[in-house]
Amino acid sequence: MKEVRILYFTGRTWRPPYEADSCILPLTYGCTYHRCHFCNLYQNEPFGMVSLPEFEKNLDEIKSYQPNARRIFLTGANPFALSYEKLKPYILTVRDYLIKCQSIAMFASIRDIKNKEVWQLKKLRAMGVNGLSIGTESGDDDTLIVANKGYTSQDILEQCGKLDEAGIEYYFVYMTGLAGHGNGCRNAVNSARIFSKLNPYFISVDSLTLFADTKLYQLAQEGTFIPAGEKERLEELQVFIGNLQIRTHLLANTVSNFVPLTAYLPKEREKIIARLQYVIDTVPEEEMLAYRRNLRSL
Ligand code: SF4
Repeated sequence: MKEVRILYFTGRTWRPPYEADSCILPLTYGCTYHRCHFCNLYQNEPFGMVSLPEFEKNLDEIKSYQPNARRIFLTGANPFALSYEKLKPYILTVRDYLIKCQSIAMFASIRDIKNKEVWQLKKLRAMGVNGLSIGTESGDDDTLIVANKGYTSQDILEQCGKLDEAGIEYYFVYMTGLAGHGNGCRNAVNSARIFSKLNPYFISVDSLTLFADTKLYQLAQEGTFIPAGEKERLEELQVFIGNLQIRTHLLANTVSNFVPLTAYLPKEREKIIARLQYVIDTVPEEEMLAYRRNLRSL
């Protein structure tokens, strides 16, 4: 009888939409931080890591049906939190099993880069680590405080500068609406200024959705956080796009965006700003609000 083989996962598994074609391989579960005010993703899930023997079992399984896998995405909210010494044997083990693997990607926080020296980042790059999804959310210090991200715009510059030096490709997230009503334009201008000093291969755009089990929802109920309107968010996105001064891809096509958009900037800047203006001019605010009320996850 044929042996039944499965991949073993612990806890919630979450990967970005653009990693849909990658092999998903569990390395960690939960999040080391748990304190972002908009996030309800890994609540009550303490951070942990998969043991090396378990990791190898999963790799063996992947090898059995995809021996030529080229891209691996390691799961967990931030596997890059693991120190260089802890990460190294896992990365080398991927190379042992999947000899054609070209890149090993994962989520990382700005905080997670701090614990690594540039020489360690270079070594990780040489071992195949490439493609860090970084949930920056903003580059505006006041907004980073509202979101309780635990780092500043200066930290973003310093830590991603290290990635640039090491040659590790990374992707940013920008979240419209996060600064609250009346603050989107400031957030957009300051974030575009900071992001433009770096080299994100692409920028993924989300829009804030307030879920009942988050701190920001609670603050909104108390009246100390005033949510931005839907059209206001699209205007914020126009400002963000208008102020970006780098060549990059923009992926604003996740479910939290009322208007799904992708663009290569700056080439398609005017086209995409005009498309947003058309939606602002023609779609009622209430229709956009109804869309957001029906969202069930980030
Ligand atoms: S946004 Fe990311 S880092 Fe922040 S609490 Fe959620 S999973 Fe953790």
